Amino acid sequence: MDYISVFNAQKEFVRSGRTSDTAFRKGILIRLRDLLKSNEGKLYDAVYEDFRKSGFDTYATELSMIYGEINFFLKNLDRIARPRRCRTNLANMPGKFRIHNDPLGSVLIIGAWNYPYQLTLLPAIDAIAAGNACILKPSELPSGTMHLVAGLINENFAPDILYVAEGGVPETTELLKICFDKIFFTGSPKVGRIVYEAAASNMVPVTLELGGKSPVIVTASADLETAAKRITWGKFLNAGQTCVAPDYLLVEDSVEDELLGLIRKRLDESSYSDGSDNYVRIINKKNFDRILGLIDPGKIYCGGRSDEKTLYIEPTVMTGVGWDDKVMGEEIFGPVLPVIPFSSLEDVLDRMSHMEKPLSAYIFSNDKSEIKMFLDRISFGGGCVNDVVMHLVNENVPFGGVGNSGTGNYHGKYGFDCFSHKKTVFKKSLHFEPDMKYPPYTGGKLAWIKRLM
Ligand code: NAD
Repeated sequence: MDYISVFNAQKEFVRSGRTSDTAFRKGILIRLRDLLKSNEGKLYDAVYEDFRKSGFDTYATELSMIYGEINFFLKNLDRIARPRRCRTNLANMPGKFRIHNDPLGSVLIIGAWNYPYQLTLLPAIDAIAAGNACILKPSELPSGTMHLVAGLINENFAPDILYVAEGGVPETTELLKICFDKIFFTGSPKVGRIVYEAAASNMVPVTLELGGKSPVIVTASADLETAAKRITWGKFLNAGQTCVAPDYLLVEDSVEDELLGLIRKRLDESSYSDGSDNYVRIINKKNFDRILGLIDPGKIYCGGRSDEKTLYIEPTVMTGVGWDDKVMGEEIFGPVLPVIPFSSLEDVLDRMSHMEKPLSAYIFSNDKSEIKMFLDRISFGGGCVNDVVMHLVNENVPFGGVGNSGTGNYHGKYGFDCFSHKKTVFKKSLHFEPDMKYPPYTGGKLAWIKRLM
């Protein structure tokens, strides 16, 4: 099917007003939920085949969030979508102000590969809830999941509301030529720039969900056992191929040895060996080689083994790392944790405040002044105190980056807003109106207007 025809059909469908009805939108969401539920087995198999992600991981990090988002809208959509009354200011009295939530039209959603279901379907749910039609372009790298999602959706939904376009760079380049009403992109800052430029040439608004190097800081006041447990889990979840995973670890030098020992212990207990279903594989040979190229064999504290045949890279912790090392030069997006010790939290925060704004940042500390300093000095998309990754898993709060890590946000009500236009409408009373604003203007009118406005 050619993209322009789908886009035109979607525009026409939204124009027809069918999607204005929240019952219609909820009907689509229920159908999507039922479709996914009745095909859960296939969804698990496809992603396992693509990069050995287990059923537990797929449910916990993808399907549960998709179902949670749908349930959120089934419960809250009528309230959220209703026009909101606002106070009328003195100059406009008597009259009523309302903010209406208008669908944008046909939106393009481009996904990244690392959480292949969630990263395309979650924004699609938000877009549908806001009354839009969408074309989804999942990542082509996990090809099994891409084919499965395309097959399920294109066979079960009319293309004028939801359509999956399969393909890679050439297909995305074609799609980017279309004058969509919005583009929602998840991926790397490098491709984000390409998308942003293409969108700008058509004056298309964008939300960019990008990546970058997300730090985790552990100070001497922290509960080290908890820090080791949570950091090890968050870093090596999905084999480090998670946008909000801690990219590198900054630890106060007085507790470095103890923390490293605890991380090694957690790794031993976690069963992340080759052959284990607790641990996923690297998505492809290109990324496998890139990640191995970041490991300096002389700085391996633990891990470092790999298998080219299975695309397995053992969780690897590196010590003695400097800020200028290769591993600190780019987003790692793999199971490698460089550790840099520090003696002054203030100095380390100062350095970070001069770096690109990360998608996430984390601190483990039991000292309120340290936590305050961290929150006040560093700008980042979102993060946690004494945890990692979990700030993402709550549909009541916005998720998104800032600066180089993205622009805009989504999830729940914020996702609805991301795909809506806030249309202010003023309904003026016909009964009474002081005629101050109409000419002829007199000195007396000027005095009144100064008092009123
Ligand atoms: P990517 O930027 O390579 O690809 C993302 C999408 O863009 C894919 O669908 C791909 O087909 C398309 N694409 C790739 N090159 C293109 C080009 N030249 N022109 C047009 N389209 C193109 O990203 P990825 O490798 O799939 O994902 C990894 C990156 O995504 C990491 O930086 C990670 O941090 C980030 N990410 C961010 C989030 C978030 O929510 N902020 C979530 C997951 C991943």
